[in-house]
Amino acid sequence: MAFAQFNLDSRLLRAVEHMGFEKPTDIQQQAIPAAMTGQDIIASSKTGSGKTLAFLLPALQRLIKNRALSKKDPRVLILTPTRELAKQVFAHLKAVSASTQYNCALILGGENFNDQVKVLDKNPDFIVATPGRLADHLSKGLFYLNGLELLILDEADRMLDLGFAPQLKQINEAANHRKRQTLMFSATLEHGQVEEFAKDLLKKPKRIAI
Ligand code: AMP
Repeated sequence: MAFAQFNLDSRLLRAVEHMGFEKPTDIQQQAIPAAMTGQDIIASSKTGSGKTLAFLLPALQRLIKNRALSKKDPRVLILTPTRELAKQVFAHLKAVSASTQYNCALILGGENFNDQVKVLDKNPDFIVATPGRLADHLSKGLFYLNGLELLILDEADRMLDLGFAPQLKQINEAANHRKRQTLMFSATLEHGQVEEFAKDLLKKPKRIAI
């Protein structure tokens, strides 16, 4: 199977080629077409499986294909458990979206709050964030998630193990558009709290176990 078999925008296919990837990994082969149908997904995937591109490619394709639901609100939000993982996801996002015009923001705990307020004021389309700091900005009414089209939870099990359940609930409730799609990735699906969260956050999800 080749990346060209996915119905992706030519700019995304060129970016993947430029990054040197020839063949989609197992998780990419399963998750990309499923996510492109618009359905919710819960997928088990390990670090190193290529899960980042498995969610970034359908996310960018959705932005390209659909009209924004709101002029101001972010369209895609990716939450990760740690600053390091958020930085890696952001680097992938910059590489794969290089030839598109989307405004991408990285919002991390431990960084200057007011600098982030300025970044959020520019109405980014895409936000990669750690949950605690994003929830702080949301609580202050500095931005809204009502127009969010796609919520992606990367390493959901680790986010829950780190105690981010309240922030994830707050973010889920704020991102209340009926057209919202949710993609949840977790090292394991056999995790009580992950199952419970999946019931709350996902609508009839397709389960992908690699
Ligand atoms: P991830 O699991 O998303 O952290 O990706 C692990 C590593 O695999 C990263 O260095 C990616 O750049 C790389 N990668 C992602 N997709 C592919 C692919 N289709 N072929 C080869 N390497 C890939």
